[in-house]
Amino acid sequence: MQYCAKRPAAMARISGGVDAPQLTGWVQFYQERGCVLVVARISGLPKQSKTGFFGFHIHQGEDCSGTEFSGTGSHYNPTQQLHPKHAGDLPPLLACGANAYLSVRTDRFSICDIIGRTVVIHSNPDDFHTQPAGNAGEKIACGVIYKGR
Ligand SMILES: [Zn+2]
Repeated sequence: MQYCAKRPAAMARISGGVDAPQLTGWVQFYQERGCVLVVARISGLPKQSKTGFFGFHIHQGEDCSGTEFSGTGSHYNPTQQLHPKHAGDLPPLLACGANAYLSVRTDRFSICDIIGRTVVIHSNPDDFHTQPAGNAGEKIACGVIYKGR
C-alpha cells in the first residue's frame, strides 16, 4: 500500500443534501506515475437506490451551492466527448449497508485539472449510455476538490 505513506495531492469533503442528510465522506486524489489514484470513503448513503449503485462523477462546476447542487453543472468534459468518455466519468459507488469504498486509477485528468471542481454522488446508478449523464438521477451529495497540504 504505497499510497498510504503519501499525502493526497487533492481531496474533497463530501456532504449530502436534502435527499441524503446523513451522507458524509472523503475523496482523495493521489498523483502516481501517469495516473491519478482516486480513493473514496463514503458513509450515510440513503436506501432508495434499488441496485445499491450510486453514480459518481467529477463535475465541472466549482461549488456545491444551489438547489440539488446546481452549482456543480455538468460532467467535467474539457474535450467535448460523449458520456461515458467524459474526463470526469468514474465507476459508480457500490453500497455495503450505508457505506461505500472505491479506489480506481484514471489517466483522464491530472490533479491540476480538477482542483476547484466538484465531486458529485447521484441517487441512481450510471447506465454508461444515456446522454449527457448516464441517467444517474438527482445529485444527492457534493464536495469541492481542493489542493492537499
Ligand atoms: Zn459523463
